[in-house]
Amino acid sequence: MTRILHRSSRTEPPLAVRAEGSWITQTGGHRVLDASGGAAVSCLGHGHPRVVEAIRRQVGQVDYVHSGFFSSEPAEALAEMLVGHEPGGLAGAYFVSSGSEAIEAALKLARQYFLEVGQERRQRFIARRQSYHGNTLGALAAGGNALRRAPYAPLLAAAFSHVSPAHAYRGQQEGESEEAFARRLAAELEAEFQRLGPDTVAAFVAEPVVGATLGCVPAPAGYFRAVREVCDRHGALLILDEVMCGMGRTGTLHAWEQEGIAPDIQVVAKGLGGGFQPIGALLIQGKILVAIRDGSGSFKHGHTYVAHPVACAAALEVQRVIREEGLLGQVQALGQRLRQGLEARLGQHPHVGDIRGRGLFHAIELVSDRESKAPFDPALQLNLRIREAALAAGLACYPGGGTADGRAGDHILLAPPYTATDEEIDLIVERLGAAVELAL
Ligand code: PLP
Repeated sequence: MTRILHRSSRTEPPLAVRAEGSWITQTGGHRVLDASGGAAVSCLGHGHPRVVEAIRRQVGQVDYVHSGFFSSEPAEALAEMLVGHEPGGLAGAYFVSSGSEAIEAALKLARQYFLEVGQERRQRFIARRQSYHGNTLGALAAGGNALRRAPYAPLLAAAFSHVSPAHAYRGQQEGESEEAFARRLAAELEAEFQRLGPDTVAAFVAEPVVGATLGCVPAPAGYFRAVREVCDRHGALLILDEVMCGMGRTGTLHAWEQEGIAPDIQVVAKGLGGGFQPIGALLIQGKILVAIRDGSGSFKHGHTYVAHPVACAAALEVQRVIREEGLLGQVQALGQRLRQGLEARLGQHPHVGDIRGRGLFHAIELVSDRESKAPFDPALQLNLRIREAALAAGLACYPGGGTADGRAGDHILLAPPYTATDEEIDLIVERLGAAVELAL
């Protein structure tokens, strides 16, 4: 009997005893192809020798220093790599230990920015329904995942309101073009600014490609340009949450590069350190850094493990490997192969309503009826049944969705390593197809 409070207290997860490349081995020798990198984390797979060596070297050199006393070489080098030469005008980095911590820091940084520039009234945040920004209280309040919010609703700050997600499969109306859909959503955001009072809004928060809550949903063309305009018109910040979809996952280093805009604050995590160490980061526009430097002089925030040297060393090496080995191109090529494979294997399946995503970030949405797009009853937990069938067949994929209000179906999310082989991508498609057939 385990003494760990696992996610499910009814079943104990199997023990992983070895992880190498795209594969995880359980006790007893059962090998599982890691098709989702946990939750879109392991972008280089497992045990990458360069990253393992970088961690070993850093622990031996400077294992830990408190960011209030010292900086460290890997933290400085990582910041230089992430914001020194990249597009979009991002000029500073702030390192924490997870995606939720990074979101919390982003919300506080936005609030502090407006205090620094004398706009105290800006204390409201607008986010989107059916989004996920993390599980700590601020991040949960920002998120729009009804199931995760419900038990903690009394603890969640009232500073957050929510508009519709940019979810074409369920939100775009009959006969409405993609552009018109994007304009309608931007008009809804504009109306929310007006309802709250435009000069009370600090920021709009969104995932460029929605991850765990909806399953790899990119926005319709023009959506991010339109919401960027709304934010600019009212002097609010745009915070983009790329915790799941960032750091190469969609085929460009940042998902926003495909939208023709740039954020004021970007939040990254999972693919930053690839799971080798826990790390998340804010990437920050220069105007925010200047406001703090010329104002109070310090970001009123901080945790014990801010800019942890070993986590930064691991992330630095992960990012070097991505650049030096040309892995963004590989994400694009493997992503196409994955998409084509899913369409060929499951595109006609009577219970697969949608196949969507970008790069190595794809999902299938399950429906009881393709015509009406009616979801299955979430009580059936079909996504979990598929996950179990897949695990038994040697495939780890990430289940999600299935809201009781019928606004989202169950989905299965795939996020294989950028280092996967063609054969592994084909095996993912084959094993997922078999698991869907077995579970439905
Ligand atoms: N934001 C997004 C888009 C996420 O997908 C997640 C985690 O899945 C988070 C924030 C929270 O990150 P973490 O679980 O590292 O706290």
